[in-house]
Amino acid sequence: MKLPFAESYKMKMVESIRKSSWEERVEWIKAAKYNLFNLRSDQVFIDLLTDSGTGAMSDKQWSALMLGDESYAGASSYFKMKTAIKDIFGFDYFLPTHQGRAAENVLFSAMLKEGDIVPGNAHFDTTKGHIEFRKAHAMDCTIAEAYDTTNSFPFKGNIDLNKLEYILENNPREKIPLIIITATCNTPGGQPVSLQNMKEVYTMAKKFGIRVFIDSARFAENAYFIKMREPGCQDKTIREIVREMFQYADGMTMSSKKDAIVNMGGFIGLSDKELFQQASIYNIMYEGYITYGGMSGRDMNALAQGLYEGTEFDFLETRIKQVAYLGEKLDEFDIPTQNPFGGHAIFVDAKRFLPNMPKEQFVAQTLAVELYLEAGVRSVEIGALLADRDPVTRENRYPKLEMLRLTIPRRVYTNNHMYYVAVAMKNVYDRRFDITKGLKIVNEAPIMRHFTVELERVQ
Ligand SMILES: *Cc1c(COP(=O)(O)O)cnc(C)c1O
Repeated sequence: MKLPFAESYKMKMVESIRKSSWEERVEWIKAAKYNLFNLRSDQVFIDLLTDSGTGAMSDKQWSALMLGDESYAGASSYFKMKTAIKDIFGFDYFLPTHQGRAAENVLFSAMLKEGDIVPGNAHFDTTKGHIEFRKAHAMDCTIAEAYDTTNSFPFKGNIDLNKLEYILENNPREKIPLIIITATCNTPGGQPVSLQNMKEVYTMAKKFGIRVFIDSARFAENAYFIKMREPGCQDKTIREIVREMFQYADGMTMSSKKDAIVNMGGFIGLSDKELFQQASIYNIMYEGYITYGGMSGRDMNALAQGLYEGTEFDFLETRIKQVAYLGEKLDEFDIPTQNPFGGHAIFVDAKRFLPNMPKEQFVAQTLAVELYLEAGVRSVEIGALLADRDPVTRENRYPKLEMLRLTIPRRVYTNNHMYYVAVAMKNVYDRRFDITKGLKIVNEAPIMRHFTVELERVQ
């Protein structure tokens, strides 16, 4: 008999989680203004809000913490991180930052000005926030296949080269300081970008003299998908694929809270010394001196170790098979999801789940509230709330996809937890025709409103 799949680690420490009653949850979600970010973590049984900073560190990472060097300048922990970044990505220069958006803030301070254009595949929300905050424009050039959840194209994170070329040809070169490839691409469902697409984007960018950066939070998951799906790549190691991916980039921003499996941290990787020097000024202003940049030495040690663990095939296989397990269970219950399954999450297609709900009533957020009421599972909306308002017209933006994201933390939950979530979704699905009223906004922030928005039920 063929041996079944099993996790590539065992557990050494556990944390209790608490179930609650339906009545408790009705009270709590109302008090949270129907915004799941406002729930206390002890009001949640299974927390699939995000995979960001929620992973379980390994014994080797915890022991690396003890060897942290807390010197202000030139700490050995800084050099451990520098060595890991050179080893894994090939970049000679790097700046530590306290998390991914801080890397964006520092890099964009050095590179972007008002009126600039930043093409890419779908930009991450903080990336877009930092671009639009500077009165520059993020242009989404993702391929059309990404927005059809029934299309199983293997690289739905790819950039449409025709769209990109159109933008590059029709704008002055100095208005486009960089192109950003987000790998994997979160917005359409944690979808990978192919090596071939990265190469083609890079070749085109160089023709126009434009830099390419990779928004790299989930670079290792992207490399796993390349290995599994891209012709000619199955015999390459994850590290070989990663090195090749980053040959097609001039730099990277990294949220280490994802594929480096730490609870906090980030960095910028660069090949260009001059840009490194310019960005260093902002790093010192916003983050800290260039050899710690908002991180303690022990955190840099754990991060360096995490980069190596996060690029091991066995770890990635365990992780991505767990995500797929949840997706397969949802498939068995006929629940509509984004296909193929993404790297870090299963994305439920909320418009197909609740087809009669008007988009103005925040379909995916309504579904997130119902899932919480059903079983104490916290998920997150990737839809109209997240898409925010147009910075110029201030009209609500309604994205092509309204998704409920079930995000799986790394090395945290078992497949029994995944099965529990799948059954909870099925129970909501069975009563979907009773869910007729959605939500409306009573209070919102001018930018990145989804974190703090207050909602109430439509009467
Ligand atoms: C998480 C993330 C960021 C922002 O990083 P933080 O560490 O949350 O500040 C940027 N881009 C992508 C693709 C991400 O996943």
